[in-house]
Amino acid sequence: HAKESGRNTYVVFQAGMNELIEKRRALELDLAAGLERGEFQLYLQPRVEPATAAITSYEALVRWNHPKKGMVSPGDFIPVAEASGQIIRLGEWVLAEACRLLDSVPGCSISVNVSPLQFRHADFLPNLHDVLVRTGANPARLELEITESVLIENDQRAVSILDEIKHMGFGIALDDFGTGYSSLSYLSRYPFDTIKIDRSFVSNLATTDNAPVIVRSIIELGAGLGMKIVAEGVETIEEALFLAQAGCDELQGYLLGRPKPLTELQRGVDNAIAVQLVHMHRSPRPI
Ligand code: C2E
Ligand code: MG
Ligand code: MG
Ligand code: MG
Repeated sequence: HAKESGRNTYVVFQAGMNELIEKRRALELDLAAGLERGEFQLYLQPRVEPATAAITSYEALVRWNHPKKGMVSPGDFIPVAEASGQIIRLGEWVLAEACRLLDSVPGCSISVNVSPLQFRHADFLPNLHDVLVRTGANPARLELEITESVLIENDQRAVSILDEIKHMGFGIALDDFGTGYSSLSYLSRYPFDTIKIDRSFVSNLATTDNAPVIVRSIIELGAGLGMKIVAEGVETIEEALFLAQAGCDELQGYLLGRPKPLTELQRGVDNAIAVQLVHMHRSPRPI
């Protein structure tokens, strides 16, 4: 009875689909309520210059302080917010909150993640303008992080959006570099100030022969193009020392500081780490 078992499979599949759709719908309603009730919070993670061991900026990473589920990570709700379009409202909130936090981190800038849908949305550029007017924030202290997935080959619209963002005075970073369909031509065509080397390359530094070669090349490339190179996901002192010696401009990762709410931010880098970084940076580089 192949037909019958096929039908049973379909019934089971349909039930599974319905359950998924129900779950997603519930999460969407929950997200809307969460936005309404102000349950979102920005955590800040430092970016550190190895040359001085100083914190130069913070990345804003959104968290959902859910009344029942506790602290929810963006991986669990950003995809749903993207699919439902709620990312637009959430993104506006994130941007305004980052502007508000600037006063609390004097001398530092804040980088803000922009989702692909948000980037393409007709309200994006007007909203950037509005938030500057409303908050009086200095756009030179804000950097917008976009991923390679935002960029499509020969995409004149992406070029003009990025040019406009740049023209408004914001910095622009290419996030998760090396994970998408990276093309070297992107780097010269778009006005990036910063390239963030994806965490996967950093975590492979000690275990693969290729990762150090690739990381050195990206750093070299960035230097040649006048872009700042930031390494993401730095967890060990060995990774940090390699990156410092290779000439990486800034380091970000649990070693230097975990993402934390403003009230719990550490004032600087752990002293033992700072001493080693500065020393390594000053030591002559191998040819
Ligand atoms: P991302 O922009 O690449 O952010 C870096 C992620 O790596 C963060 O995860 C951060 O907590 C984590 N991380 C930092 N250092 C380390 C480390 O040393 N080791 C490891 N294993 N992980 C580290 P998080 O906060 O869970 O955010 C995940 C992603 O969600 C972000 O990746 C970003 O794409 C997205 N996201 C976060 N906040 C926002 C937001 O406000 N708007 C949008 N559109 N996306 C956001
Ligand atoms: Mg990011
Ligand atoms: Mg990243
Ligand atoms: Mg990443």
